[in-house]
Amino acid sequence: MAKFKPLNENQLVMLPISLQNQIVPGTLEHTISRVVDEHIDLSVFDARYNNDETGATAIHPKILLKVILLAYARGMISSRQIERACRENILFIALSYGYPPDHSTIAAFISSMQDEVQSLFSNVLLVCEELGLLDGTHFSLDGVKLSANVSKEWSGSLDELKHKRDKLKEKIEHVMAEHAQADKQPEVEVERQQKQEKRLQRQVERLTEFLKDREPKLGSDNKEIQSNAVDNESVKMPTSYGVIQGYNAQALVDSKHQVILAAEAFASQDHENLEPMLDGAKKNLKAIGKGESYFEAKELTADSNYHSLNSLTVCQDEKIDAYIPDIQFRKRDARFAEQERFKDGVHGRQRPETKTTPFTLVDFSFDADKQVYICPQGKELTCHAHNQVNRHRTYDVYHARVQDCAACPLRARCLSKPSTSRRYLSVQVDSQSPNLIDEMKAKIDSEDGKRIYARRLGIVKPVFANICVHKRMHRFTLRSKTKVDVQWRLFALVHNIGKIQAFGTLQ
Ligand code: SF4
Repeated sequence: MAKFKPLNENQLVMLPISLQNQIVPGTLEHTISRVVDEHIDLSVFDARYNNDETGATAIHPKILLKVILLAYARGMISSRQIERACRENILFIALSYGYPPDHSTIAAFISSMQDEVQSLFSNVLLVCEELGLLDGTHFSLDGVKLSANVSKEWSGSLDELKHKRDKLKEKIEHVMAEHAQADKQPEVEVERQQKQEKRLQRQVERLTEFLKDREPKLGSDNKEIQSNAVDNESVKMPTSYGVIQGYNAQALVDSKHQVILAAEAFASQDHENLEPMLDGAKKNLKAIGKGESYFEAKELTADSNYHSLNSLTVCQDEKIDAYIPDIQFRKRDARFAEQERFKDGVHGRQRPETKTTPFTLVDFSFDADKQVYICPQGKELTCHAHNQVNRHRTYDVYHARVQDCAACPLRARCLSKPSTSRRYLSVQVDSQSPNLIDEMKAKIDSEDGKRIYARRLGIVKPVFANICVHKRMHRFTLRSKTKVDVQWRLFALVHNIGKIQAFGTLQ
């Protein structure tokens, strides 16, 4: 019969471990440790601690920063996960010098870092600059919409939320009525009903508290948009996989090694974020000694979601060589002529097929004497509003009379929906200044424009893949714009430290 060594679990083993030897040079944890020890100014945290005379000793911010950065790099975002790692994982134990912080200390440190995170980001950016990781000739801007730590269930107009609260109150009464029969029910069922009652009560309290003296949240057109009773700064956003309640996390990236120059989370659409992102990048670059005109004459690429008159004007004012295409640019590109998704002219979207071509501006003639447009049915469209501005242009709006359109045999072809009462026609207003939209179209359609714009994918997309897939940043775990902004910047910070590890040599 075969003989084996004894399987004795009941024994004590003492293993000599050098914490220092766990942090092996060349690894990410070693780079994080050295960057935090030698290049980050931790005095920005001094004001937080007031225990020099009395009180217990605190966990050093160096420890907290190191373990949080390594945890984010490993895809651990929950403070409880980080706490566990600091007790079980030898790398985290080494980085925390054997003093594992608890989850509430970690969570409080991250969520109160809004004043310090800017300084930390600039410190790391300076290391990237000193190691020659910045090229400074081409930048790409992009964003990703990430869910907030809330449910869409808590979103709605104030009236909808009041209605929801009233429904919950009714439900509580119903549960309480059931509860009154409790003595006839098994104990486990009574317990379930009590739990349900408490949960509903908490929900009603949350809504009541939120609705107290609450003003409606207004959108850019001054109409009420949905509020959220849990994180009212988050907004509903359409994405390719459905509508989410969340934030739009943005990053401006340098082309050489994909170092992030600026990162910020917004509760707005891409086309509103180019200007604040450039401002944020200039602030970071100023902190490392770069001038205000850093972006002058440099290339900037961003996708068609950033295309707006305001974005193009900002780039013109900053003298940036911008490449920001309009939504139709693929349709004009012969290389995409055979691709179905661009045939209808809408990048990435399909439009339902229409039997007839709808009437457009070319089907209407202008009567200069009367200053009206004449429709294909011979009816007059008078000016309804002058100098309206959207993200692309300034335009006048003309409209037909309701009674003309009501009896018109061409209604189906002329009106966008059968329920529309009259035809509206928007006409672009000619401007004396060069038309930036047309200039950008010509630039993007040129051979150079196509070549330069094509670089965007390779520069900025891997950054989001690294953060959102490799580092598993799928959704924010904190609430409010300030806190999710800190979380996003910390991910950008750890991405940049990864670049230092991969391409730089710390002296
Ligand atoms: S629907 Fe109205 S605007 Fe259009 S063709 Fe008929 S009358 Fe003219």
